[in-house]
Amino acid sequence: MRSPFLRKKDIAELERKIPGFRSDGQMPVRKPIIRVDDLDVVYFAGKNNEARALDGINLEIFPEEYVIFFGPSGSGKSTLLNIIAGLEIPSRGRVIVDGQDLSELVSNDLARFHRKKTGMIFQTYNLIPTLNVLYNVIVPLIFERIRSNERKDKGRYLLKKLGIDPFETRLPQELSGGQQQRVGIARALINNPPILLADEATGNLDSEAARNVLEIFNILNLNDKKTIVSVTHNPEHLSYADRIFFMKDGKIIKVEVNHERKKIRGENDEGGIKKERTELDLLLQAYPDLSSMQMQVMLAPFKAKMLVAYLLSNFEYEEIQKMEEVITNRLLGRISEEDLINQLDFPIEEGGVGLNKNTALKFSRIIEEVVAKADFIQQETPLIKENQTDPVRATVSGIRIMLLEAFKGELSLDQVEALDKGIEYRIYSKISKKEFREFLDRPLEKGGAGLNKKSARNLARKLELIMLVKFGT
Ligand code: ADP
Ligand code: MG
Repeated sequence: MRSPFLRKKDIAELERKIPGFRSDGQMPVRKPIIRVDDLDVVYFAGKNNEARALDGINLEIFPEEYVIFFGPSGSGKSTLLNIIAGLEIPSRGRVIVDGQDLSELVSNDLARFHRKKTGMIFQTYNLIPTLNVLYNVIVPLIFERIRSNERKDKGRYLLKKLGIDPFETRLPQELSGGQQQRVGIARALINNPPILLADEATGNLDSEAARNVLEIFNILNLNDKKTIVSVTHNPEHLSYADRIFFMKDGKIIKVEVNHERKKIRGENDEGGIKKERTELDLLLQAYPDLSSMQMQVMLAPFKAKMLVAYLLSNFEYEEIQKMEEVITNRLLGRISEEDLINQLDFPIEEGGVGLNKNTALKFSRIIEEVVAKADFIQQETPLIKENQTDPVRATVSGIRIMLLEAFKGELSLDQVEALDKGIEYRIYSKISKKEFREFLDRPLEKGGAGLNKKSARNLARKLELIMLVKFGT
């Protein structure tokens, strides 16, 4: 039978380009490494908000091919990639990856299959900010029975290969975006999977760093024989691929063989740390007087967010929110490891996240590894000591204690009272940041807190930081 997916001249092209790819008459003898048959993905089926993310997708991808799913936002690219990764279950259709029909695998086997066969690379890198570069790369090996030294050796080999070995002990945020993405690529390679899946991998990078990542993909494809499936809406990428699947409204509307695939060898990145500071970085630098404990407490919601982003693939908004909340509580030591597992495991209706037991255990293992790294858990902090009877007062006075931690002067009782009022007004957005600063600076007699200009400015800035991390955004 002739392959319904490739035209004759496409096959000839593939034969020419891909070593070992032969066709027997009109049929490729090489088996596809990925095959998708009649795939549909429908969200909210039957409801009035029904969304058809994928609609009758058929495709084959061959070993050592480099393909791109190209299309506008919302066309279904990520959904298709996640299905191939085994992270989402289709509404209809069949997905075969490396000879395995994914629908035949139950959840644990699916997760293992996913880890062994595919490495995923994300637009936002999804690195864990509290783990250094090496640990980030070897995180996926937590699931494997491998000795710690062996894990590290594997990780170091990849760091070297990707030119990021000098940053082994750095934290991700100390690296430039391009370097962080190389850490992400190293992590994707740690289980030596035959397939790499990249979802807008260069979406957050400047053009030079983006080219560097494309160059790495090119080498991984040509030298390391990885099959690469890359999702993008950036047409500059297309020249790197063997084939491009053009998508629109959940359908593949065109498949094009790239006759002019670039075999570029770009100039090497010098690898020095180009300090790309995030907004948070800058904020943190502005507050050298915060104790590391205070910093940890304030960063917990961010860490929770990152961990959740890393652990998750296809959860609903509600579950994600709940999970962030539970993980934040664990990072802050408000709940025990056992509570964490239970809350991850309990059904949503009972206030849990609704994971099954095994997934809950797996997630908690990763979370506990991060928790173990943070020494703040057992320590009491003003924010943790919650006053059950009057939560507003407890929050306000907790914040006041944090605000005044590094304050050198003395405050009268009246000033403390005034300050509390001001904090309350600010955190409930009754006054602006500027008004809060002016209030701090105004004399007590005129209804202010009677601080000097400098203290007023410092405390106002510090409160903004606390609000940023404690109350969300
Ligand atoms: P792309 O990656 O091409 O931007 P996606 O695969 O993310 O597109 O989304 C395809 C379509 O499916 C979009 O209309 C999107 O809104 C919808 N969609 C994706 N994920 C979900 C979800 N979990 N629930 C509901 N709709 C979704
Ligand atoms: Mg997408």
